Amino acid sequence: MPKAQNIINGQFQDSQTTQWIDLHNPANNDLIGQVPCSTTAEMKAAVDSAAEAFKTWQHSTVMTRQSLMFNLVRLIRANMGEVAKLITKEQGKTLADAEGDVLRGLQVVEHACGIPSLLMGETAQTIAQDMDAYSYRVPLGVCAGIAPFNFPAMIPLWMFPLAIACGNTYVLKPSERDPGAAMFLSKLAIDAGVPAGVLNVIHGGPDAVNFLLDEKRIKAVSFVGSDTVGRHIWERGSLNGKRVQSNMGAKNHGVIMPDANRTATLNALVGAAFGAAGQRCMALSVAVFVGDSKQWLPDLVTMAKALKVNAGHVPGTDVCPMISPKARQRAFDIVEKSVKQGAKLLLDGRGVTVPGYEKGNWMGPTVLAGVTPEMECYKEEIFGPVLVCVEAANLDEAIKLVNDNDWGNGTAIFTTSGAVARKYTAQIESGQVGINVPIPVPLPFFSFTGNKRSILGDLNFYGKAGVQFYTQLKTITSLWRETDATVLKAATSMPTMK
Ligand code: NAD
Repeated sequence: MPKAQNIINGQFQDSQTTQWIDLHNPANNDLIGQVPCSTTAEMKAAVDSAAEAFKTWQHSTVMTRQSLMFNLVRLIRANMGEVAKLITKEQGKTLADAEGDVLRGLQVVEHACGIPSLLMGETAQTIAQDMDAYSYRVPLGVCAGIAPFNFPAMIPLWMFPLAIACGNTYVLKPSERDPGAAMFLSKLAIDAGVPAGVLNVIHGGPDAVNFLLDEKRIKAVSFVGSDTVGRHIWERGSLNGKRVQSNMGAKNHGVIMPDANRTATLNALVGAAFGAAGQRCMALSVAVFVGDSKQWLPDLVTMAKALKVNAGHVPGTDVCPMISPKARQRAFDIVEKSVKQGAKLLLDGRGVTVPGYEKGNWMGPTVLAGVTPEMECYKEEIFGPVLVCVEAANLDEAIKLVNDNDWGNGTAIFTTSGAVARKYTAQIESGQVGINVPIPVPLPFFSFTGNKRSILGDLNFYGKAGVQFYTQLKTITSLWRETDATVLKAATSMPTMK
């Protein structure tokens, strides 16, 4: 069977025959997502094609780009179910979760439909006699995106649509572990009218990433993924003179005040800790029980125990498999080490298997209590269905604990007190705060504003900051005088524009 590999210059390539495959023929849909690594020649061809396309795409009208985004929104909405099914099949998350993955990405494309307003610059009239100044937001050139496995639709959609709407051309490298959704979405983009060369897709791991970081013609790199890789990407990309935005790991704390609504809080905690098997950068992986709220812990364990662990496509599944045997083993080892360090294992999901899928990467909900900041399970991002429970005597102690943590992606507080919530939001350092909202991922008219160790680079993904990331300012100073000068004499001093 042929394998659809790269998207170069608007076409799929069969990796075995190197023949081009007709993208517009639905019979070829099942070829999407079968992806061996791109060769160096193919990666170079992708950048060649993006660089060539930029010559014309940068001058496309903003209305053309807006109507393209509207088309893409329409096509993603029409194919949402198909993309979600592909994610469930390839990545393992539940269908409902996969639909959420596509929807949260689609919202960024919907926001990109406002590109004419988003790109507006600034003007100043009469800065000197007969002289005006104005700035434009202009594209950067060829941009690249490197995506993680855990949101195979949403994160590519944080990247290429806005970049293209801003007038750039793009080379996307999806996660080699689940590239299918990105391929499907890229096909939809081409169906929506993205011209040949404007969006290209390559595949691979570290070699493909390093190729993008070293390729001179790439002006900006967007990365979402793990801590060590993100640091490497930011350092190597920045040293090579590129603009880099790098979103990385997290350790998100949920603070439970004793006055919180008990049932709603328990529901929120359990869903946000174990949903997607904890493989979300905004998962609530640490529960901070303040004062008497620790008495809710037994009920939390009972709820966690009742969650159904199974394959994502099986109706009623709550907890899907983890992405790989390696990821699962790492989570197991962290649990083991933390127990040796004194953590209490209230619920152990390590023995869970699922009949019919015995070789799956299963890990059931796991709850560790009595955890202190020196323990492995507190220091490491586990990225599995493990909830780490700590205790604090009061709100001030909880705030200090959260602020002492290196990461700053997100946090949530559960309370019925406005004053407590206000104090928490004012004093907490994390960049995304939920008040009775367990996973406060901002909608795209804001930006994704994780901070501290969770991000490198100055400009956030999507929203106004996203537009700033994918554009640079060009400022024009113009002089339109009705009459010619009266004296023939050049001024050699620095113009003061009086
Ligand atoms: P990962 O870092 O393993 O992979 C991300 C990308 O980097 C992939 O495309 C991969 O091919 C590439 N890569 C992997 N190893 C590399 C290396 N040695 N050199 C160069 N490139 C390499 O991340 P993942 O496991 O796919 O995703 C999970 C991580 O992503 C978690 O840490 C999670 O917190 C983070 N994440 C963060 C956010 C956020 O916005 N902060 C969102 C989603 C996920």
